[in-house]
Amino acid sequence: MAVIRDVMPSFQLLQPTSVDDAQKLLQQHGQDAWVLAGGLDSFDWLKDRIKRPKAVVDLSGIEELRGIRETSDGVEIGAMTTLTDVVRNPIVKQKYGLLAQAADVVASPQIRNQGTIGGNVSQDARCWYYRAGWPCYRAGGNICYADTPVGRNREHAILHAERCVAVNPSDSAPALIALDAKFVVRTPKGERVVDAEDYFVGPDINITRMTILEPGSLLTAIRIPSTWAGAQFYFEKVRDRNVWDFPLLNVASAMVVSGGNIERIRIAVNAAAARPLRLKGVEDAVRGKPANPATGEMAGKLAVQGAVPLTFNAYKIPLMRNLVKRAIGGVQEAAWAS
Ligand SMILES: Cc1cc2nc3c(=O)[nH]c(=O)nc-3n(C[C@H](O)[C@H](O)[C@H](O)COP(=O)(O)OP(=O)(O)OC[C@H]3O[C@@H](n4cnc5c(N)ncnc54)[C@H](O)[C@@H]3O)c2cc1C
Ligand code: SF4
Repeated sequence: MAVIRDVMPSFQLLQPTSVDDAQKLLQQHGQDAWVLAGGLDSFDWLKDRIKRPKAVVDLSGIEELRGIRETSDGVEIGAMTTLTDVVRNPIVKQKYGLLAQAADVVASPQIRNQGTIGGNVSQDARCWYYRAGWPCYRAGGNICYADTPVGRNREHAILHAERCVAVNPSDSAPALIALDAKFVVRTPKGERVVDAEDYFVGPDINITRMTILEPGSLLTAIRIPSTWAGAQFYFEKVRDRNVWDFPLLNVASAMVVSGGNIERIRIAVNAAAARPLRLKGVEDAVRGKPANPATGEMAGKLAVQGAVPLTFNAYKIPLMRNLVKRAIGGVQEAAWAS
């Protein structure tokens, strides 16, 4: 990491107190504006002088973006709700424990106290080269430094890579996909509600962004429908250091088992590709089958079909296979995991 001694470029700090005002400011400043939530990703970019916005729109004074409300059909979480508040919320814990589990293993307690759920799902890639300001594809250049025989790509993608091999590092994202959450986005043209899985984009759609958010847009809330309340959940994250670290891979599943058979299931993984992946093929293949080791084994193999390792991340293929296997077998894991 370079030692930086120059003065950080100044920016105009704008502190709206309503979503309407925030949006007006974002539209006014267009490409020159930066949305600031908890700042954990944002300040890295600004302090490293890699992103140099002229105006920073700080959402922390907008009360309507905070808090968790039970609705007639589930729960709505304001985008500026901290990860700690998500983890501690009694409704989330009781009915949507998958999200509480995922949010609880994000980084460290300090980061969860400051980091928001909206920021967690909107955070940028953590590829070393990109974060250090190298002019790669994702930064608008015409090369990928990670995808070379000597590139540092141990943490990178095994699926759906296209020019860029960086991964989405969010822990909460796959849990929200498994819970069939809807993301509420305010765009200059009005409000849009999108399925969690459609909030994220890969390099085939837009290599410079990880979400559908365009300049001038805001994520305002995340709605979790009651469809999966109280289902059988499984979340597992593998990381280098358990104290705090980004996922090397994670898996989240919501399952309803009846008479020993999988009646309904949603399953997603993250840190395998540039966007969190819902494993629709796996869901279709295991529906109606017994929730047992044989089904888990089959699901794990299916999940990694088409995976292509880079020089230093081949370990991710058996890792993903085993995480999916355990997510299907759930608590029975200890008896049959290999
Ligand atoms: C050392 C460290 C370790 C970490 N480890 C993990 C980990 O293990 N797992 C994990 O999941 N995360 C991890 N994170 C990420 C962290 O948890 C935060 O969730 C994340 O950085 C962003 O949240 P934030 O609220 O700080 O948002 P910010 O950093 O302020 O924003 C992040 C990005 O999202 C945009 N944004 C934020 N909110 C909105 C909104 N409402 N509408 C539109 N755009 C928005 C911002 O413009 C910015 O581009 C780690 C971060 C650090 C610094
Ligand atoms: S993996 Fe993506 S972000 Fe990293 S160097 Fe390659 S193009 Fe850039």
